Amino acid sequence: MPAYDDNNIFARILRGEIPNDTVLETGHTLVFRDIRPQAPVHVLVIPKGAYVSYDDFSANASDAEIVDFHRAVARVTRDLGVSLDSGQGFRAITNAGAHGVQEVPHFHLHILGGRPMGRMVQPD
Ligand code: AMP
Repeated sequence: MPAYDDNNIFARILRGEIPNDTVLETGHTLVFRDIRPQAPVHVLVIPKGAYVSYDDFSANASDAEIVDFHRAVARVTRDLGVSLDSGQGFRAITNAGAHGVQEVPHFHLHILGGRPMGRMVQPD
């Protein structure tokens, strides 16, 4: 696992050095709107802890952090009207490393919705 970069943009958001459009904040999790939205609903769910990627988070976060993160997903999908109870569904994506084409090396889950999302992976 690569070392966590304390100066990545989401670490700076968590330290309050860069503004963000917060949708939900819990004890261990922050949800904010993506600065370059690719759908009517496009938010990023991030743990407050220093985890590089989903596999890092899944392996090394505490049970409390993992539960809090996933409960936050349930809350925002409902509150933003894209859950199966409140809307017509969504796509959740997390990119990891070079082949995942991860831009920001702090674990984040994209939640996209508000329109049909098309095929999951485009052919080359
Ligand atoms: P990824 O390619 O999965 O690492 O995605 C990183 C995402 O972070 C992209 O969708 C960017 O638009 C988004 N992003 C980068 N900087 C910011 C920022 N300051 N506030 C909100 N979203 C950001």
